[in-house]
Amino acid sequence: MALYSATALGQAGGVATAPHLLEPVPSPGTTTDPTPAAPGVTLWASDAPGTRAPWAAYATEVLAHAGIAHTVSSDASGVVLVTSPVTDDDDAARLSVFVAAGGALVIATAPGALAALAGVEEGATVETARVAVVPDEAWTHLPPRPLRAVGGVELTPAPGTRTLATWPGGAAAATARTHGGGVVLMFGADLLQSVVRIQQGYPVTQDAAPASDGTAPRDDGVLKTEDGMALDLETDRALPPGAPPVGTDYGHTLPAPSPVPMVDVPYADWWRSLLLQAIWWGADATDAAVPWLGYWPSGLEGIAHMSHDSDHNEAADGRAALDAFAAADVRVTWCHIYPGGYPAEMYEEIAAAGHEHALHYDAMHGDALTSWGRPQLRAQHAWAQAVTGRERIVSNKNHCTRWEGWSELYAWCEQVGIEIEASRGPSKQGLVGFPFGTAHVAFPLADDGVRRHDVLMLPLHAQDLAWAAHPSVRDVILDGAQEQHGVAHFLFHGPHLRRPATRAECLALADAARERGLEWWTSDRINSWERSRRGVRVTTAHDGGRRVLRVDAAAPVAGASILLPPRLAPEGVPVTHVTRHGRAFVQLVTDLPAGTTTWTLEP
Ligand SMILES: [Zn+2]
Repeated sequence: MALYSATALGQAGGVATAPHLLEPVPSPGTTTDPTPAAPGVTLWASDAPGTRAPWAAYATEVLAHAGIAHTVSSDASGVVLVTSPVTDDDDAARLSVFVAAGGALVIATAPGALAALAGVEEGATVETARVAVVPDEAWTHLPPRPLRAVGGVELTPAPGTRTLATWPGGAAAATARTHGGGVVLMFGADLLQSVVRIQQGYPVTQDAAPASDGTAPRDDGVLKTEDGMALDLETDRALPPGAPPVGTDYGHTLPAPSPVPMVDVPYADWWRSLLLQAIWWGADATDAAVPWLGYWPSGLEGIAHMSHDSDHNEAADGRAALDAFAAADVRVTWCHIYPGGYPAEMYEEIAAAGHEHALHYDAMHGDALTSWGRPQLRAQHAWAQAVTGRERIVSNKNHCTRWEGWSELYAWCEQVGIEIEASRGPSKQGLVGFPFGTAHVAFPLADDGVRRHDVLMLPLHAQDLAWAAHPSVRDVILDGAQEQHGVAHFLFHGPHLRRPATRAECLALADAARERGLEWWTSDRINSWERSRRGVRVTTAHDGGRRVLRVDAAAPVAGASILLPPRLAPEGVPVTHVTRHGRAFVQLVTDLPAGTTTWTLEP
């Protein structure tokens, strides 16, 4: 065992050099004899034959994006997370012993044989409803309004069981109780189904109904991402703060004439957050260790992303966009639409300015090469490689948010080399904001309900401020994304950047994000960062009587942010104190080498 002592780490670094950027502390190096790792979360896998609940597979993605290491086992340790109903009485008995002895159990599926341990009685199933989260010591961050839930069961709490959330009729949708020395937190709302359905919607096969107030005319004869939305346009939207009610004759004209209801809350992110809050609460209650890897490097609280779609490929529009982005000092992801193109030198100018060349897949016009299909995507991708002179085209956004089916586009993306995809967003004024409930990148669930496609979903939140979207949406989006530590994505088009009002909004947006400490990143950079952090595993281990933090990295990661509860601060290294998901953490920012690195934690 060759653990490096705290004194070997030195005291340099850890000093904020800019308001929101942290310098990494020197890495202590790599151990030659790493301690056995103890993942923070055990995903419960019954020894008894059983059926995996639909959506259960997505727990792996939610934990991975949160940078929480987990193991799949029927040996309970750390915080145990149950995602498929336990039907076996032996399983229930073992988990009861684990909790009674001081363990933490989080149930994110119907209680089944764990009903007595959770202190609930299982009631009627719920198809979809809005869940009100109730203040409780378990929660550190409460959503601003009831959350859309898709699926779940009503719960009746037994005496001694607290209600943490309620269905509209008053039945419990989440509960908590103590049992012996441990705790049990139970979600009756189907948290994982809600996350996937809100993020990925339903298969798109026909136009969806418009909003009754005329602000979101989805019945436009075009199949697009918003036709699959799981959110309810009548109940799950709100006006920007201070905006007057919409008139009864709203015409959805351009430029957007007045504020309209928007999807102002990232509902899926809130469900993710509630699961993380439950896990960390359970860990604190039982002295378990669930360290995690921050979403962004260098202590950043969130980021912003700007993209540009080259609709019409007019050189004058491209020039206006280049000028606006230079004035805004933002490197954008420049999505190129087939056919035609800019003058050849403009592609080099775009790259020289630091912008990313990307694809704007057109399945709208309906010609042989501009319709919905894998060969069409492949052909347009090859065209984008040809006109830009670059093999590496890894980002795509579909023209007019075109979509069909559920996840087939992601399969095509995997095949042509698209690694990150940003079509899930609004094409109507009343759908601006978080129509797919998220400010986070995520790997989508595949049609088989088990596999995840190897392409990141990057959400889109608004198009062309002061044209397609009223400027009042800007701060709502920045607030919502930053509050969830995600990415706020704004799209602009060259023709609209020739309009003084939209150009001015673009420049003001760039400054507003920077003033909040949000860096502007391209899609390619987001993609590379997320994939590199997925190769990091943050665990704890015991070395004699001491607890150590152990980090395994598949490849070097610069500026990694490792977060621990204050009771488990690393010893003798500079840390900062931050709040994430409403909870206090100590943050260690460090350049991780490939391999295993350890730090001793405070006793
Ligand atoms: Zn377009």
